[in-house]
Amino acid sequence: MFWDKKMETLKRGDLQELQLKRLKKTLNQVQKVEFYRKLLKDAGVKNSSIKTLDDITKIPFTKKQDLRNGYPFGFFAVPLKDVVRIHTTSGTTGKPTVVGYTRKDLETWSDLIGRNMTMVGITRNDVFQNMVNYGMFTGGLGFHYGAEKIGMTVIPSATGNTKRQIEMINDFGVTTIHCTPSYAMHLSEVAEEMGTELKSLKTGLFGAEPWSESIRTTLEKRLGVIAYDSYGLSELFGPGVAFECKERDGLHIWHDSYLVEIIDPETGEQVSNGERGELVVTPLVKEAMPLLRYRTGDVTLLMEDGCLCRRGKKIARITGRSDDMLVIRGINVFPSQIEHVLLKIPEVGNQFMVYIDRINHLDEMTVEVEINREFFSGELSDLARLQKKVVKELRDTLELRTTVRLVEPGTLPRFEGKAKRVIDRRGAI
Ligand SMILES: [Zn+2]
Repeated sequence: MFWDKKMETLKRGDLQELQLKRLKKTLNQVQKVEFYRKLLKDAGVKNSSIKTLDDITKIPFTKKQDLRNGYPFGFFAVPLKDVVRIHTTSGTTGKPTVVGYTRKDLETWSDLIGRNMTMVGITRNDVFQNMVNYGMFTGGLGFHYGAEKIGMTVIPSATGNTKRQIEMINDFGVTTIHCTPSYAMHLSEVAEEMGTELKSLKTGLFGAEPWSESIRTTLEKRLGVIAYDSYGLSELFGPGVAFECKERDGLHIWHDSYLVEIIDPETGEQVSNGERGELVVTPLVKEAMPLLRYRTGDVTLLMEDGCLCRRGKKIARITGRSDDMLVIRGINVFPSQIEHVLLKIPEVGNQFMVYIDRINHLDEMTVEVEINREFFSGELSDLARLQKKVVKELRDTLELRTTVRLVEPGTLPRFEGKAKRVIDRRGAI
């Protein structure tokens, strides 16, 4: 049964009771890890110190670097003979992070993926092509076993050979695909070149990288699918932490399995309701590698209660990394928020630069953005109106006054790879 209705629509009080029970169990489980014994001892936290869910703030965070320092098996709470699988996450520097799973962990994980897929109406009658890396990346085997568990017909096509992927979709009558949004875009282009329509497709599950609403619209149009956003990370099993329901307005967290907080990445304090910050997750059901207050580095916010599907509280789509956060006049600003605002105004393009200066001891932010000729006539009076509109939209979202400069198309720097759109000149002489 994968529409776990009782579990997914628990009343707040019942859910909190379950979470607290599972948090206490997790606290026992982490005692088997030397890092946590020391961490909790140094912080003066005993199991008896955690009486309510709010007491979790007494526990220090676990950071990615801690996991790296524990390479390879320092975070395992069970003997290696009980670990039936290992995944690693690629590190750009140094050693990768190792994650381990007991047999029960693998069961729990595929149940969560099964719940994701059931939530959006996928059943055993669907044919599923999993177009992601099947190696150490958790999106491959993770989705594979989740899909098998609900009885779908699974095609483990992995990545590469896009023409062959397209042939399989058509020949096998594939209804559901899972891949990164950028690969989906590539797939749609190759299909177009081949002059073929992917008629059988109905559902696209996309994740592993941030993507926008405009990419959703494009993918849905070009592939003929309803596109859903998937969120997870290997340290928390992999995909299956949060997923969109049919409303496609935010991602439901599986609160019975993950306790979430949103914090200010500077101070580590929990932010107020609805405010954007870094997602911190305490998994409540892991055996091999339990974690406490894991800092994901991903930026999101907790949405208002109440979704038509009656499942629990949602997070907004991930809009960036907390490492990118700027503090301007005491206000936290994520470059992704600026991008988000600009993308909503068709008269400006998606090419922009942000400059931060300190003038008379005050932080000043200037946003330069290219005009989009397709939507903008070029009258001088319109220019002033557009400039005011951008200033207002930015102020409404950031709660910060910015200077906006509209510039000609093609004048701002283009980036290969990761864009460096923010230039902070406050430290400069
Ligand atoms: Zn919902």
